[in-house]
Amino acid sequence: MGNILITSSARAGIRQRFYFFVRPMSDQYTFDDQQDQIAMKEAWERALERLATSVPETSMKKFLKPLKCGSVEENSVSLIAPGKFVYEWVKDKYLDRIQEALSDEAGRELHINLLVQDREKPSAGVKPISVIQTAQPQPANPRFVPKESYTFDNFVVGQSNRLAFAGAKAVAQAPGAKYNPLFIYGYSGLGKTHLMHAIANEIMQREPGYPVMYVTAQQFAEDFVQSLKNNRIDQFRRLLRGSRVLLIDDIQFIAGKDRTQEEIFHTFNYLYQSGRQVVLCSDRPPRDLLLMEERLRSRFESGLVADVQMPDTETRCAIILKRAERESLGIDHDTAMYLAESINGNVRILEGALTKVAAQASLEGAPLTIDLARGVVESYYESIAVAKPSFNQILNAVSKHYQIDITDIKGLSRKAPIAHARHVSVYMTREILGDSWKHIGALFGDRDHTSMMHAYKKIRSMMNRDKELNASLKMLMHDLWPGS
Ligand code: ADP
Ligand code: MG
Repeated sequence: MGNILITSSARAGIRQRFYFFVRPMSDQYTFDDQQDQIAMKEAWERALERLATSVPETSMKKFLKPLKCGSVEENSVSLIAPGKFVYEWVKDKYLDRIQEALSDEAGRELHINLLVQDREKPSAGVKPISVIQTAQPQPANPRFVPKESYTFDNFVVGQSNRLAFAGAKAVAQAPGAKYNPLFIYGYSGLGKTHLMHAIANEIMQREPGYPVMYVTAQQFAEDFVQSLKNNRIDQFRRLLRGSRVLLIDDIQFIAGKDRTQEEIFHTFNYLYQSGRQVVLCSDRPPRDLLLMEERLRSRFESGLVADVQMPDTETRCAIILKRAERESLGIDHDTAMYLAESINGNVRILEGALTKVAAQASLEGAPLTIDLARGVVESYYESIAVAKPSFNQILNAVSKHYQIDITDIKGLSRKAPIAHARHVSVYMTREILGDSWKHIGALFGDRDHTSMMHAYKKIRSMMNRDKELNASLKMLMHDLWPGS
């Protein structure tokens, strides 16, 4: 068939800040996947139905229905007109509307290449007779390239993150097949976002163009509200539902936001039921998302729930060595071990320390020795081993973690989430301050010392059988008192 590229449309649509991962250099790749061709044909059928509501039937018949859907690329699709007459009409009168309707139906902002079939020389092959260049539309999904260094290869696996790593790897190898959803939780700076990018990197390495979408819960919430405001909710939904792997980072953000939760619930169900993969990350386990609707929480728990913990010293040392190797910083094992032992923060802090030490070495034009590292640690990091937190700091941390007001924690309500946060506060107070039960009772507002003891024991015994509670208390403790 001799198709001639004649024109293309440009129209700014909704600017969603969702990110379809695209590999660098992949601008020209095509969705050769047959499924995408079929999906586009179906989207075109729906777009025609939508257009029929505003275009007179005779014009539909004459100009729009004869258009055939041609090749599909990432952000563009070809529509083939049967002759020049139809082509001219469509170009002048309908192209913008087609672009809008088809983008809506396909769930992504599309660039339309309008082609005309060369009837005179069907055997002439593809031979452009004229090309009208118009401005390229901005893609609706700003290109988000998964961070190149966030790969599985660059992730150091230890006891602290083994399960999360295995889960992420399984998801990357066969999305939707095994652990769906995958829920990874843990303290900040321990590699959750790294694992999400690693999933995207691996999938796209294997299959460029695979629709992997990444969004933080905050972006989701903001864009959801924006779409409602602009009457673009259908497009918002299609965009998300067009993904085959949806990665939602920092899901704790939507706790307490009822409508956004509802939207995520429906998105989740849609993707899940059609066998698409969902991966969620959070700074706490599902059950600690107390302001999250129960139905969402139980969805989150229905696949694999895996934690990332603070890495042990050996793993920290390995992380430093790997990072140093990647950045060609000559560091010996002893110096790496020294840093791993003396920097007691999360991986982000550890990496920051390595950067500081390397910067100092280059400033002094000196090799990166253990003495140099010691000097840097002593001047910058001694303060990390902070003093015991106060009672108010403990309450604040628990309140923040469970999203329950301090007045409620200290109050009398017996509602389960509030009582739980209160018991945890008592536990933390006793563990950290080591005060007498009587004094703790006084701190919580003249309460009987036996009720304080009871709360403490309750948490203790729950911890023995409850891995997630154990993990969140560790996180809380670390948050409050990194030097403990
Ligand atoms: P989170 O999303 O949990 O807050 P990130 O994924 O942003 O944490 O990780 C913080 C930094 O630590 C990143 O630079 C990441 O590459 C690094 N990092 C975390 N865990 C590991 C690990 N196990 N191996 C190598 N690098 C890690
Ligand atoms: Mg993160």
